[in-house]
Amino acid sequence: MSRIHLSLAQVTDVERALVLDALDSGWVTPLGPHVDAFEAEIAARVGVGHALALSSGTAALHLALLGVGAGPGTAVVLPSMTFAASAWPVLYCGAEPVFVDSGDDGNVDPELLLHTVDELRAQGTTVAAAMSVDLFGRSADYDQLVPALVDREIPLVEDAAEALGATYRGTPAGAFGTASVLSFNGNKIMTTSGGGMLLSDDEALVERARYLSTQARQPAPWYEHTEMGFNYRMSNILAALGRGQLSRLDQMMARRREIREAYAEALVDVPGVSVLGRHGRRDDAEDNCWLTCIVLDAAARADRDALLAALAEQQIEARPLWKPMHLQPVFAGARSTMTGTSERLFYTGLALPSGPGMTDVDVKRVTEVLIEVLAT
Ligand SMILES: *Cc1c(COP(=O)(O)O)cnc(C)c1O
Repeated sequence: MSRIHLSLAQVTDVERALVLDALDSGWVTPLGPHVDAFEAEIAARVGVGHALALSSGTAALHLALLGVGAGPGTAVVLPSMTFAASAWPVLYCGAEPVFVDSGDDGNVDPELLLHTVDELRAQGTTVAAAMSVDLFGRSADYDQLVPALVDREIPLVEDAAEALGATYRGTPAGAFGTASVLSFNGNKIMTTSGGGMLLSDDEALVERARYLSTQARQPAPWYEHTEMGFNYRMSNILAALGRGQLSRLDQMMARRREIREAYAEALVDVPGVSVLGRHGRRDDAEDNCWLTCIVLDAAARADRDALLAALAEQQIEARPLWKPMHLQPVFAGARSTMTGTSERLFYTGLALPSGPGMTDVDVKRVTEVLIEVLAT
């Protein structure tokens, strides 16, 4: 019995040809023509003015936060339910992370986020930025967040690491932040094996990030530095891989959507289970369907761990949702505004195999286990 993985990257001859071109062209370098083209193609796809290709999404978030002024003595308000890489860069900047709970679709609760910003300010804390995370490829609620943050003059950093290809009322994920971030890690909707991108309409912010990301070199014949820099740029070979993946993004998203539909259809009459995000105020038509997650409630015939164990026994990889940051030992003592929703989703939710390389037979193998455990 072959193993079914959560989300394996899919690489074809399109990617192979572009990577070979990068190798054969002599640009075996950090930077080069594929990096420039990749930045232009992503900026066009997302509809933002400027893009900076970097070594990871985490590096991109670090530069985004520096760009909006996060630093010692400031706070950054962000969702608790996310991957730790959303929160680390707040610490890199020397700022204080303040966590906020989720709504039912797992994304940050906008009212709670705004309330937290207001409370911090009332207590005399400088809020450098609010961060949204487009969780599992579903955009946060920007109709609520964007105007309210503009009113408060708080920059929004959009962590769209999981959400390239998703839209929110027609606007692409990655276009909402004062600075926004994508990830091309191996398990994301598309990959450069490892990499990320900083996006913004603010040219000065992106140009300063470009300078900081290449060791903060001053224009001089020798290596002249007046402040601390980073080595955060993406290599030409990886950008070539990214261009190939981007050319197939819609195709890969379409396959992930088919897989989601198959899971939803199989589970429609099963008691106590729902597809995360599908029955919220918005449907999932604008999600990129990166990972399909299900949530169990009191009517379910098994709990999360029993379901995980049954899947593992059939060589099927599934995972709990992100363990919220306010429950992580490393963030013990961090300030937070909690309702219990993210904790409940963590204990009752799991991500199902969703990779574009899954066959219909693979999907059937998964749904059969789900039905056996939950419906019989
Ligand atoms: C993957 C991910 C990141 C980090 O991206 P890397 O490219 O792995 O550094 C940040 N935030 C979220 C929500 C992610 O899922």
